[in-house]
Amino acid sequence: MTQQSEIFKKVISHAKEYGFIFPSSEIYDGLSAVYDYGQNGAVLKNNIRQYWWKAMVQLNENIVGIDASILMHPTTWKASGHVDAFNDPLIDNKDSKKRYRADVLVEDYVAKIDGKIEKEIVKASKRFGDAFDKEAFINTNTRVKDYQEKANAILKRLGKSLEAGNLEDVKALIEELEIACPESGSRNWTDVKQFNLMFGTKLGASADSAMDLYLRPETAQGIFVNFLNVQKSGRMKLPFGIAQTGKAFRNEIVARQFIFRMREFEQMEMQFFIQPGTQKEWYEKWKEKRLNWHLSLGMGSENYRFHDHEKLAHYADAASDIEFKFPFGFKELEGIHSRTDFDLKSHEEFAGKKLQYFDHEKNENYVPYVVETSIGLDRMFLAIFSNSLQEETLEDGSTRTVLKLPKILAPTKLAVFPLIKKDGLPEIAREIVSQLKWDMDVAYDEKDAVGRRYRRQDALGTPYCITVDHQTLEDQTVTLRERDSMKQERIAIDQLSDLLKEKLDVKHFLKQL
Ligand code: ATP
Repeated sequence: MTQQSEIFKKVISHAKEYGFIFPSSEIYDGLSAVYDYGQNGAVLKNNIRQYWWKAMVQLNENIVGIDASILMHPTTWKASGHVDAFNDPLIDNKDSKKRYRADVLVEDYVAKIDGKIEKEIVKASKRFGDAFDKEAFINTNTRVKDYQEKANAILKRLGKSLEAGNLEDVKALIEELEIACPESGSRNWTDVKQFNLMFGTKLGASADSAMDLYLRPETAQGIFVNFLNVQKSGRMKLPFGIAQTGKAFRNEIVARQFIFRMREFEQMEMQFFIQPGTQKEWYEKWKEKRLNWHLSLGMGSENYRFHDHEKLAHYADAASDIEFKFPFGFKELEGIHSRTDFDLKSHEEFAGKKLQYFDHEKNENYVPYVVETSIGLDRMFLAIFSNSLQEETLEDGSTRTVLKLPKILAPTKLAVFPLIKKDGLPEIAREIVSQLKWDMDVAYDEKDAVGRRYRRQDALGTPYCITVDHQTLEDQTVTLRERDSMKQERIAIDQLSDLLKEKLDVKHFLKQL
């Protein structure tokens, strides 16, 4: 097993063992690519959602939030293009009978070339030491340049073929690159076919009158169909945004990699309505703003990169992904799309109703353009969780497993321990819990030795622990222990609340935006 898959396995088992994520309906052996969030996962997920909502809605006076339904009139999906074009190209390996996304097979091949480039860079940086100029090396080293040209040519051809619906060429590309099935190792492939990803359902009691519906595959359309409702009732002026978080459903062909690709997942999306012609400027602005949001969590700028799309969706005139370094490599975490006026115009046409904005300054009506930011909440959860899970070797040679979550997102902010279960210490500890629980998520733990209790909280990502001991009886101070540094200090009980509120103030993080 590679080191990467070893790490990823640890992430999955840790998530289950500590009540973050369970397979759905596990007693029936689970349901493929569907997961449940446990007692700690639900809180962490809520905290991520709130962090996004605060940054997008609360801190921007021209962005408002809504909560649209999962079920929508079925014509919505005709207008949006999902009925005709929300397809993935699939291919089967005849020997293993395994099904793959044809585009992902090619992209994985390209990722291997990228890996080779990375290796060359690491090798060269070791060779040249401090004098190493990465940029110059990439631009001049012939091997790296060859790799890059090859990767670009492959992606360009894939993009072109997919855009033109030329599935024969996608298959030809897979054959030319000699891509083999990871399972059987054979290159015995079927033709590439299109597969629609929407889940169907029915509305209505009797079979003849029932209406065919879809579970929404994205939350964005709930925003578009409400564009005028929000604009008029909120007297919104361009540019303005509408945000929402909510469930989306996709019948993914290959649903693997834990919560990275699920069939039921949650999105956090924002559609920013702008004057036509200003889309390039806003697209660049939102790319920068969204990257800053990620960086504000302090998970290391080296773990993010932009990937500008060659292959554009039917609605976009520019698109870029913010990719994150997951345990299985750099993959899409968020998409920023310049969606033009495609959606509103199309809804105008299908609904036969105007979806236009009256611009008082220009004294004219027009359909606004849109720049969208779209991030998967579950993918964000995985990014944070996998990045935070660390094994550390301590000075005394022992090891600890610690979940170094950004403090403000941790499901439990503070754990309070009495050193022993007598002498009045539990009563003081419980009193501290009952005072602080109004402001933060607090846990009480009196089981096992204090060292083991610290380890348990480290594994849960709890940033602070307090221990009440015999000295507390004398001077009303407790030991405050910090998760990452493991430093301990004595603090007066009556100063705890202010101190912790200051340390856990979300403002310090969001101010970096
Ligand atoms: P991918 O190429 O990985 O299938 P996408 O380009 O289809 O993703 P979008 O339609 O742009 O994704 O959706 C926006 C965001 O929603 C993605 O960046 C991702 O974070 C999230 N997302 C999309 N599909 C899934 C899924 N099946 N499971 C979890 N999150 C998803």
